[in-house]
Amino acid sequence: MPENLYQCDFLVIGGGIAGLSAAIEASYHGKVILLTKGKTGETATEYAQGGIAAAIDEEKDSPLYHLKDTLAAGAGLCDKHAVEVLVNDGVKRVKELIRTGARFDKQGKDFELAMEGAHQHRRILHAGDATGAEIEKTLAAKLLKEKLVEVKNFVFGKDLVLKDGKCVGATAFDTKNESELVFLAKATLLATGGLGQVFLYNTNPSFATGDGIAMAYRAGAQVTDMEFVQFHPTALVIKNIQERFLISEAVRGEGAVLLNSKGKRFVNELAPRDIVARAIFNEMKKEKSDHIDLDFSPIGKSKIKERFPTIYLECSKYGIDVSQQPAPISPAAHYFMGGIKIDVNGRSSIAGLYAAGEASSAGIHGANRLASNSLLDGLVFGYRSAVDAAKHFKDNLSAPADQRLRPRPRLRSEELVKLKDSIKRTMWNKVGIIRSKGSLSKALEELSTIEKKLGREAGSADEQEVLNMLLVARLISRAALDRTESRGAHYRQDYPEQDDKNWKKHLVYSIK
Ligand SMILES: Cc1cc2nc3c(=O)[nH]c(=O)nc-3n(C[C@H](O)[C@H](O)[C@H](O)COP(=O)(O)OP(=O)(O)OC[C@H]3O[C@@H](n4cnc5c(N)ncnc54)[C@H](O)[C@@H]3O)c2cc1C
Repeated sequence: MPENLYQCDFLVIGGGIAGLSAAIEASYHGKVILLTKGKTGETATEYAQGGIAAAIDEEKDSPLYHLKDTLAAGAGLCDKHAVEVLVNDGVKRVKELIRTGARFDKQGKDFELAMEGAHQHRRILHAGDATGAEIEKTLAAKLLKEKLVEVKNFVFGKDLVLKDGKCVGATAFDTKNESELVFLAKATLLATGGLGQVFLYNTNPSFATGDGIAMAYRAGAQVTDMEFVQFHPTALVIKNIQERFLISEAVRGEGAVLLNSKGKRFVNELAPRDIVARAIFNEMKKEKSDHIDLDFSPIGKSKIKERFPTIYLECSKYGIDVSQQPAPISPAAHYFMGGIKIDVNGRSSIAGLYAAGEASSAGIHGANRLASNSLLDGLVFGYRSAVDAAKHFKDNLSAPADQRLRPRPRLRSEELVKLKDSIKRTMWNKVGIIRSKGSLSKALEELSTIEKKLGREAGSADEQEVLNMLLVARLISRAALDRTESRGAHYRQDYPEQDDKNWKKHLVYSIK
């Protein structure tokens, strides 16, 4: 077998909650290889602060209430069956996660369940304000200690390999050794996370560039709900720093309030995220300011440090003591509701190809994700993908006739950084919180100009990443232009109303 060729039953691309959950389950049925772009643990999962939603309180809550809250937040576009699967399986998977070792905060012997925006019940399990890190650590430890799976870090998934219309693996760049690898698999899962990095201001890790969505689309898979990008209302604003640190919704759940420059509240802080984000955006515009204040004082000094240690420390780094003074915040791109179209078993429109987590869309978030439902999404649909994919493990491994050699890199890294920056500025300024036909058409023009400079074939992981960003940016802009109404996170200034008569439907795109 050639040195650069690997074979397995299940290829998992991505090591966040969705990839880990799938890889662990699949490892009981066959050989699994898991690829990550960076180190193990460098994931959005690791960043998640607030918590994971599950109706585990059988007395005061139920999956039915969780279903109702999720449907209400989704602005008429959730797939009810998929949400039923999420909330019911969610309770089982979270209990299993606790048995695997995840330690969530307790009050006495019961879990201390938190409240978050648009939830009607306390159902958010948390580990301080570093819940994602606790989950990532628990799942990665199980996978690595028990040597369940062959993990390959710093391997960048490039393109899917197809044979007779079926996905039989993927090509990848080994970014440490600068070589190209081929992975053949009986089933392949894309669990590559979101795409917040295509916007100038975002809360996402640097690798969240929509790679899996771009890979799937190039291979002919259907993608859906591309217009629905969630802008988180409260990200910390620090002068001259582009990165935005997220201040979790849980802070507002515990009582923190938003104040304009006159010290007045202007929105219900626990309304759905799109409403709060737009209210802040408009208030900032009115005040010609780059931020609004988030006042932590109603939470109480001692509770702030105890309940939100990570947020307290991060703000302190910039000289902001949130127990004494408000934090300057503004909205930032945060979560992607759309992605590779999947069914409730994680199957995409291409045989042998699965997707889970933020890269995928089973329709559970509709037009607006309910807070703390995304970790649950990855946990539930990662697991379900593995269960379904295992049915292929008895098939014969197929190999395509040959793999094309990649071209050489064309662009220097400084040029790539500039092109990335242009994409991010176009998307933030023209495809952001408030959109219109004019801004979206202009965005598509600007993205076409960038495409001419980039070309279509990548000769390195860095080039491929920018190509992926460009592709998903075009898909978001196209879908946002096509949807001539406002719904959930998608707001059109020229069509400000929700139009159920014409638009209570999903937009689906594919190159076929
Ligand atoms: C700051 C922040 C706070 C959040 N807080 C919460 C919260 O409190 N509750 C909640 O439910 N959700 C929260 N979210 C959202 C949630 O964290 C994510 O939606 C979820 O973790 C996504 O999990 P995932 O497994 O799909 O992807 P990730 O956890 O993002 O993992 C993606 C993986 O894919 C790999 N990858 C990407 N591209 C490639 C490639 N080309 N080749 C190889 N590997 C690749 C990466 O290396 C990584 O291992 C938060 C998100 C952020 C950014």
